[in-house]
Amino acid sequence: MKKLPNTSIHPNTSIHRRGLMLVLSSPSGAGKTTISRILLEKEQDLTLSVSATTRKKRPGEVHGKDYFFVSVKEFDEMVERGDMLEYATVFDNKYGTPREPVEEGLSNGKDVLFDIDWQGTQQVAARAANDIVRVFILPPSLQELERRLYARAQDSAEVVQGRMAKAADEMSHWAEYDYIIINKNVEKSVADVQAILRSERLKRERRPGLDDFVRDLRQA
Ligand code: 5GP
Repeated sequence: MKKLPNTSIHPNTSIHRRGLMLVLSSPSGAGKTTISRILLEKEQDLTLSVSATTRKKRPGEVHGKDYFFVSVKEFDEMVERGDMLEYATVFDNKYGTPREPVEEGLSNGKDVLFDIDWQGTQQVAARAANDIVRVFILPPSLQELERRLYARAQDSAEVVQGRMAKAADEMSHWAEYDYIIINKNVEKSVADVQAILRSERLKRERRPGLDDFVRDLRQA
């Protein structure tokens, strides 16, 4: 598999920094989409990877912003051409991450946010082990998860029950993640993800340009 080119010059510093790939996974209804939206508003250097999906558009969703809504044929062609960084079937629909925008974001010094499931996370981790930061978001309880899915009222009762059944499956993968957030309060959860991002950005191994910087410091 092709490795991602992801060494970039970070815009806020003269020191080279490798862009990181921040993955958020959770069962649907745990609050991941809300956390992602607020995070993107607060973090200028973070850009969202917009996935392609074969599922139907929900009310209020925008093509190109929430997802690229494509036919099964279009999706399969993207996979055939090698245009997907990862892809998986979730709830009988296909979801995948278009490769090019991710590579472009990373090479422009951006960190990239992924809202993908555990299957996609495993694929990205296999390809970019040093650059992925995995965060799993848990709901405070199963009752609360069910309440949120119904409150969203965008899916039928049958779909909600299907999603509840899948939630247990998704949650069984929590231990494959680097950080775990229990989403009791959205503001606090966003602050926690920001703390993770800030620490991960400072990691020595993500900043190969430090070698030159310290050499110059010592010579001064
Ligand atoms: P939803 O249909 O509720 O928007 O998303 C359902 C699930 O699919 C969520 O767990 C979401 O993280 C996952 N998902 C969305 N986009 C992708 C993708 O590109 N790849 C993978 N593997 N999962 C995705």
